[in-house]
Amino acid sequence: TAQLINGRKIAHALKAEVTAEVAALADAGIACGLATVLVGDDYGSVAYVRRIGRIAEELGVAYEQVLLPGTTTQDELLATIDRLNRDPAVSGVLVLRPLPPQISEVDVFRALDPQKDIESVHPENAGLLALGTPRFVPSTAASVFHLLDSWLDEVGEDRAAFYHRSLIVVVGRSNNVGKPAISLAYDREAAMMSVDEWASREGRLGWHTRQADVLVVAAGVAGLIRAEHVRPGAVVIDVGINPREDPGTGQVRMVGDVEFDEARGRARAIAPVPGGVGPVTDVWLIRNTVHAATHHARKVS
Ligand code: NAD
Repeated sequence: TAQLINGRKIAHALKAEVTAEVAALADAGIACGLATVLVGDDYGSVAYVRRIGRIAEELGVAYEQVLLPGTTTQDELLATIDRLNRDPAVSGVLVLRPLPPQISEVDVFRALDPQKDIESVHPENAGLLALGTPRFVPSTAASVFHLLDSWLDEVGEDRAAFYHRSLIVVVGRSNNVGKPAISLAYDREAAMMSVDEWASREGRLGWHTRQADVLVVAAGVAGLIRAEHVRPGAVVIDVGINPREDPGTGQVRMVGDVEFDEARGRARAIAPVPGGVGPVTDVWLIRNTVHAATHHARKVS
């Protein structure tokens, strides 16, 4: 069975680095704060902001959690963004997706101050990322590759050699997860393939995924990846966060996009949900916030 890629352990090590960076900022008297904006009550997003609150507190970063009803208008949301852009206590802003249908995602992203856009969704930052010179590396995609890099170090494989001979297949093509993951695959000079809902129609999902040496799954569909979708010996990174109700107890728990027990029988290594990508993403977000605060302090001083 597959090795487990332990996101909690890897996050713990990363936390030590970020804690030192936060302390250095505090010593220098530089304010560092994170704000998240959640519109509505998407399951994954609600779970995510809850975790961010905990980790910000643990690492000593000021945190403002903005919760807006699902009926919020575009203008109301833009007014909130404007306020956070101007607030000197806020170094980084994260707008949770998905946004409700009455809101234009791209207009909201464009309204963010690029210096505070820690997820690189503003066109300027998305462009820098695509050019291979990111201002901020978006936390989820960063986490995927941080897990892979850490695992390679642990098993003693040369990172460059591994990526050069691997085909990375990313299922899901969103602007905040799938596409940034592809950009990072470019940076590692790996071969890559991007698969979305359309490309996986008519049972073609497996045709794509079975070619993967590294399978990254960020579709947001519980149990999408079954045993037959996994090439024996592949490394599987599950990004999905979905609710699944236990038919016996009625209790809802968090599951990924990968049917864990099935994939475990075929993969060489697997990052599970929960306990894989999530914990590292959380720390990375704080890391980006710290970097935003540092950049900002350099500019004004
Ligand atoms: P999204 O809904 O914006 O994008 C989903 C993508 O998957 C789309 O490109 C869509 O075409 C594709 N897709 C949907 N069904 C598919 C199918 N059957 N086959 C192939 N492709 C399919 O979602 P997102 O924001 O990219 O997030 C994806 C998942 O990752 C969600 O479950 C989300 O909760 C989770 N997520 C986790 C973290 C984390 O830190 N672990 C962070 C962000 C998002």
